[in-house]
Amino acid sequence: MNLSYWEIKSWFTNIDYTIVGSGIVGLSCALSLKERFPNANILILEKGTLPQGASTKNAGFACFGSLSEILDDLTTHSEEEVLEIVSKRVEGLQLLRKNLGDEAINYLQYGGYELFPEEDEGLYEICLSKREQINSLLNPIFKDDVFSLKENSFNYKNIKQGYIFNQFEGQIDTGLMMETLLQKAQSKGIKILNNIVVEDYDESNNSVLVKTNIFEFLTSKLLIATNGFASELISEPVKPARAQVLITKPIKDLHIKGTFHLNKGYFYFRNINDRILFGGGRHLDFKGEETTALSQTILIQSNLETILKNIILPNTPFEIEHRWSGIMGVGNQKKAIVKQLSNHVFCGVRLGGMGIAIGSTIGNDLAQLID
Ligand SMILES: Cc1cc2nc3c(=O)[nH]c(=O)nc-3n(C[C@H](O)[C@H](O)[C@H](O)COP(=O)(O)OP(=O)(O)OC[C@H]3O[C@@H](n4cnc5c(N)ncnc54)[C@H](O)[C@@H]3O)c2cc1C
Repeated sequence: MNLSYWEIKSWFTNIDYTIVGSGIVGLSCALSLKERFPNANILILEKGTLPQGASTKNAGFACFGSLSEILDDLTTHSEEEVLEIVSKRVEGLQLLRKNLGDEAINYLQYGGYELFPEEDEGLYEICLSKREQINSLLNPIFKDDVFSLKENSFNYKNIKQGYIFNQFEGQIDTGLMMETLLQKAQSKGIKILNNIVVEDYDESNNSVLVKTNIFEFLTSKLLIATNGFASELISEPVKPARAQVLITKPIKDLHIKGTFHLNKGYFYFRNINDRILFGGGRHLDFKGEETTALSQTILIQSNLETILKNIILPNTPFEIEHRWSGIMGVGNQKKAIVKQLSNHVFCGVRLGGMGIAIGSTIGNDLAQLID
């Protein structure tokens, strides 16, 4: 297809910053760039009709790490490093809430719970015995105990009768968050074009030639925010990791409220509009889930249903209304990759399972790489 003179002039001439990917990172980066350079011409290219990676697919936990996850991190990181990881997540959540407002994202601090399967005696005991130590470690950030012990008041079955409760964990409406971010970007004059795949780019002395599935154009700087799809464009150590989800139909008098982690966070569920949203199970088939295919598997979906029936809603009839999957970007380190790749090309990728917490900060950090 040949673009018209008008199309070229209005959309693809004098582009200062082109961002690939309209997830939370791409949009936050565009907003930070606009704040720094109000007159800049900013273009976001997105391959999906909607953002099509993780930002519109996730579970909406506004979390910063369960007790078992923090203990796990301490086996590979120093206390200072773990404190920094948690602190970055907390700051990121504050930034998201400040930028968009709690009402716009329906932020609710119902608290988070970690549940332990009956047979997971070892992990349960370790978490109980280390709880005070981790509370002390996190005290400089929260100035209060994060983790306490609660009774099984939601009547889950086949789990230990005590939960670890995190009073600072919240939940958001993921769809509202992304709608608000998109509207904010558009209201500031940031152009967003959907259904365009960036296939490659060529850098020259002063600019970058961006090659898409339908046309090519020049940009002064190129910023890549494609997370789980990063390896299709750049050579950084990021692998795709699919995460599958299901949601029930509305359940009358649903008694569950909060965000819940099970099996070291490999399973997670929450209430939303009288429904249970339940996801995870990637650990059942790590290799198979290392894919960018937005589909579901019987293995994982049937496991989710079994747990829903045997643990979460043992006495409540439910029906599954809908299933989906999203693609995360992971690696052998938890840290995101935010860096300059060459003179005019930059990236902010590998957000793991914490993009709600760190996405706003990573987007902002990416924008700050531009001088
Ligand atoms: C099922 C699921 C549950 C999750 N639950 C939580 C949670 O509860 N809490 C939490 O903090 N995090 C959660 N996460 C993780 C979180 O959603 C991600 O870390 C975050 O959304 C990553 O944002 P991003 O902008 O980096 O990537 P993405 O949202 O994936 O955005 C990248 C965008 O780039 C686009 N793109 C890719 N390649 C190209 C190309 N070549 N050309 C054009 N466009 C391209 C993609 O379509 C995509 O829209 C979850 C993730 C999933 C999948």
